[in-house]
Amino acid sequence: MKIDLTNIPSGSKEISFSLKPDWWKTDFNEDRIVGFESPLSTWFKIYPAGEKIVVDGFLSVRLFLRCDRCLETYTHYLSADFGIYLSMFPFKGEADVELLEDDLSLDFIDGNFLDSDQIIKEQLILNLPMKTLCTKDCKGLCPICGCNLNTAMCSCQSRYETFGNVH
Ligand SMILES: [Zn+2]
Ligand SMILES: [Zn+2]
Repeated sequence: MKIDLTNIPSGSKEISFSLKPDWWKTDFNEDRIVGFESPLSTWFKIYPAGEKIVVDGFLSVRLFLRCDRCLETYTHYLSADFGIYLSMFPFKGEADVELLEDDLSLDFIDGNFLDSDQIIKEQLILNLPMKTLCTKDCKGLCPICGCNLNTAMCSCQSRYETFGNVH
């Protein structure tokens, strides 16, 4: 959604909306997220702060994630608060310590509009677990035959152990 930043009231502008599961596209370059199980709900509160605009928000969604170990899809509830400072004058500033922050916010601004899709996409990726695991003790895939050790039994490991015992 594009949010017009030119008519932010001096107080604040609050917007809440939801995104249907088909909003998530696999070409978002985040292959840990397979898709959405539920619609994503979010709200944004936008208010001016000097030459900057502050965007506070919250989002929640049930995601389908890919397990790092066994590569199966599992459900994960993700919720996140965020606060972002945007400069409305990204090209005006001189090269100073704030340049980096302004560079980052450029992705979110398109003319006078805030691109909420970009913020949501970034927040989802930032708030993924460090390791995506279907269960804490996921056994993963057999490194030899590739079967899913959570649901299948193979004899690779026992064969390996037998060799080990030869010594
Ligand atoms: Zn797993
Ligand atoms: Zn195996």
